[in-house]
Amino acid sequence: MERLTNGLGNSFLPSGPKKAPYGNHPIHESSTRPLHVVIVGAGPSGIALSIQLKSMPHVTYQVFEKNADVGGTWFENRYPGAACDVASHAYQYTFAPNPNWSHHFAPAEEIGEYFKTVAARYELYDRIKFNAEVTRAEWDEELGRWAVAIRDSESGASSQTHGDIFINAGGILNAWKWPEIPGLRAFTGPCLHTASWDPSVDLQGKRIGVIGSGATGAQLVPQMQKIGQSVTVFVRSPSYILPHVGFGIEASSYNEKYSEIQKQGFRDDAIGYKRFRKAIEQQMNENFRASIKGSVAQQEARSWAEKSMREAIISPELQHKLIPDWELGCRRITPGRPYLEAVQELNVEIERSPIDRITESGIHTSDGVIHELDAIVCATGFDTSFRPRYPIIGRNRVDLRDLWGAQTPEAYLGLAVSGFPNYFTVLGPNCPIANGSLIPCIEWSAKYIGQVLQKMQACQIRTVDAKCDMQNFLNEYMQTVHRDLVWSGNCVSWYKERKTGKVTAVWPGSSIHYMEAIEVPRWEDFDIGYCHRNPFMFLGRGESQREAKGEDLTFYLPDGPAAWK
Ligand code: NAP
Repeated sequence: MERLTNGLGNSFLPSGPKKAPYGNHPIHESSTRPLHVVIVGAGPSGIALSIQLKSMPHVTYQVFEKNADVGGTWFENRYPGAACDVASHAYQYTFAPNPNWSHHFAPAEEIGEYFKTVAARYELYDRIKFNAEVTRAEWDEELGRWAVAIRDSESGASSQTHGDIFINAGGILNAWKWPEIPGLRAFTGPCLHTASWDPSVDLQGKRIGVIGSGATGAQLVPQMQKIGQSVTVFVRSPSYILPHVGFGIEASSYNEKYSEIQKQGFRDDAIGYKRFRKAIEQQMNENFRASIKGSVAQQEARSWAEKSMREAIISPELQHKLIPDWELGCRRITPGRPYLEAVQELNVEIERSPIDRITESGIHTSDGVIHELDAIVCATGFDTSFRPRYPIIGRNRVDLRDLWGAQTPEAYLGLAVSGFPNYFTVLGPNCPIANGSLIPCIEWSAKYIGQVLQKMQACQIRTVDAKCDMQNFLNEYMQTVHRDLVWSGNCVSWYKERKTGKVTAVWPGSSIHYMEAIEVPRWEDFDIGYCHRNPFMFLGRGESQREAKGEDLTFYLPDGPAAWK
């Protein structure tokens, strides 16, 4: 469509009086509300957010990352065997497909490289400050902005910055913690944690004790089995660890190394994209059906998983030790044929007796056995309480650490927290971490935050704060639905709070359900504060954006004469 102008330049209206009380600007003018955003974390969420914000007019942002490079969990986790435990082709941005994944489950280094490549390709590096740890964030009601303190981990120097918006993209699984076992410090040999791996420790030929049997333990144990003189795996709770690459998929080879022809296939729209990429994502998202307790899909999936494990583990004693007796999906389902093979090797022992204590020479279990060890590896997971590691002080000087220390972490759609204006988080409490494909949900979260920022600019909004009662209703709803979903099942898992049994980590629906839920912000769920006493000042001098931009002012007409209906 040809652009129409009135011959007076771009605008039909002459610019208004310079000091008009209503503002000399067209409606919805983003420049009237420039926003500066402070983002914590340059992992998959921080990168998605940066890409989202980069293209927004009159939005500036700065990312603070405690590590020396981007990637978050994929920068940090370097334990032997660390890899994606979902198909790599379903663990990448929708807008940045990588046809070159080496394996079905690509190793952590390769995933880390992928995120670096995306950050470089989208020219994000100059907006990221590395080795910069956020140590405090405080809402300033008077100025309507966040004051954020940062510590440079190399120089130790502290500094302060401000943001109209503060976004926590710090991830859920990065505050690793030592297990609470009496005497852990007394052990005289090396004691490692998978999330803070020390590659200089030589474990070759050692008697290794591995504590933990979650997704990390399942990846680590096969590697320990290859090098250890003996490996004792302390399994407090077993997990469904499957000999297959995915739920219901009986692939001919496990963790296939992709050939050049297959990689070419992923580049080819007609064949690879539909047949592989879309098929993998479809299957991941369909899995939600089996997350409903007592459903036929759950019963069938559970029988299939049990049968698969029984077929993979020969010894009935080992089957008894390793096959869970709770709903499939209650704990994370992990693909792990190498684990199931490793635990049947002669140098590996599965110990189900609870750990009593650790002494200088090994681990004592409650059956009275002393397991003499040369090294202990803790695959014991993270602090998943959602409590921030540094003070985040919101309205009325409430510290989010105290709030979520005293009561169950409750948020609004995993994206905001009532009482913390202009604060957003990606993958906060009750996010779709186990509900299907994850990366699209991160992208949708970034888009959601982008929409809120756009609205703040367009309508000259000073503050957005999720309404307390709406957040409460949402949490009540979520816990009610969770009663019927596997995550509230009969297992121990980091998805739920140990003391209350409330499911705190997982969304009560599918990933697609989450994406639809956050597709369009529900403004009615927010307390909104305006930049001006009169909320309608955003209407400006009476000129539309189309007029201001010299665009077609007959946009409401079809291009050709319309047929009468
Ligand atoms: P996790 O699932 O929390 O498992 C920790 C294990 O350590 C559990 O078996 C736990 O037993 C055990 N444990 C903790 N404290 C213990 C103690 N004091 N004594 C004995 N055992 C103890 O942690 P994770 O395996 O590191 O996995 C966490 C999450 O990271 C996964 O669910 C997944 O979301 C993510 N992850 C992802 C990938 C990927 O490729 N995408 C790979 C690895 C991990 P209890 O269960 O009995 O407490």
